[in-house]
Amino acid sequence: MTQNTPKDTPKIAFIGLGNMGGPMAKNLLKNGYQVTVYDLSEAAQQQLSDAGASTSSSPKQAVQGADVVITMLPASKHVNTVYLGDAEATQLTADGLLSELPSGTLVIDSSTIDAAAARNVARIATTKGIDMVDAPVSGGTAGAEAGTLTFIVGGEDSAFNRAEPILKAMGKNIFHAGSNGAGQVAKICNNMLLGILMSGTAEALNLGVKNGLDAKVLSDIMLQSSGRNWTLEVYNPYPGVLENVPSSRGYSGGFMSQHMHKDLHLALQAAEDINAEVPMGAQAAALYDEHIKEHNTKDFSSIMAHFDSSVLR
Ligand code: NAD
Repeated sequence: MTQNTPKDTPKIAFIGLGNMGGPMAKNLLKNGYQVTVYDLSEAAQQQLSDAGASTSSSPKQAVQGADVVITMLPASKHVNTVYLGDAEATQLTADGLLSELPSGTLVIDSSTIDAAAARNVARIATTKGIDMVDAPVSGGTAGAEAGTLTFIVGGEDSAFNRAEPILKAMGKNIFHAGSNGAGQVAKICNNMLLGILMSGTAEALNLGVKNGLDAKVLSDIMLQSSGRNWTLEVYNPYPGVLENVPSSRGYSGGFMSQHMHKDLHLALQAAEDINAEVPMGAQAAALYDEHIKEHNTKDFSSIMAHFDSSVLR
């Protein structure tokens, strides 16, 4: 990674330092950006401070002097809280960051949220002369750490062009999906498919294991056969098949089941809005509806426990 800090390198405020935001902000630092961070969690702020970031005590303090604001928050209500000042707000209130930011600021929201909320916040930003893109990501915590995320961007060409070099410090593939909200639509299509694939992979592995096969042997066979898919290959849900994945460390870290649950329901809502058929997505959502009652904060591959509860004992 480069360590250059040209004079005109934009100053960045980064809000939301969880499983994804923490490593993403660290990669900005490694690429020579000056970063000021904010998170509700002091421990998360401390980690970034150790990596060279300035810390702050509120979102408004974090954005003082920033040219670019990046958020990586759990869901729509958190994005509304930060930018508009209230979880349920549809209009800007005095507490919202958008009332604080000077015109000309670039805002990048990388959280996965519903497209309507993304369009609404971007619309309000535009009225204040602020450029905003939705830029949700794919690639998981491993991609966030390695700086190889895929960014799926929605927004005007001019805002995309400003965001692209910054996103390249955290990712490898940067797609411009269309206008505001388009990044979120593409992202929920991807995550609906991911939820279906993870559920199906867990179902198949359980069927084999309960019939006497070894999970690793079965995975190797399916990887060279037509059942091959990303969850089987790089995120196997059965403990011990792959090293360094959540299933091999008690399903900790990674992508929480509550976030997959959120994304599946965003997909179902988007489908209902346009009358699209999503029976497989609905089935995966029903599995996660049950699953999060007990395993909200476990990685989403812990859906394996729906089929074989011993993996979580
Ligand atoms: P996370 O829950 O680990 O982190 C979210 C962070 O936001 C937490 O540190 C929390 O304290 C902070 N936060 C919440 N409200 C805040 C506020 N008002 N001000 C400041 N900080 C606040 O979540 P994550 O796994 O990092 O995911 C973030 C987003 O990225 C989600 O929308 C998720 O769906 C998406 N995503 C996650 C993954 C993954 O593999 N984890 C992959 C792709 C996309």
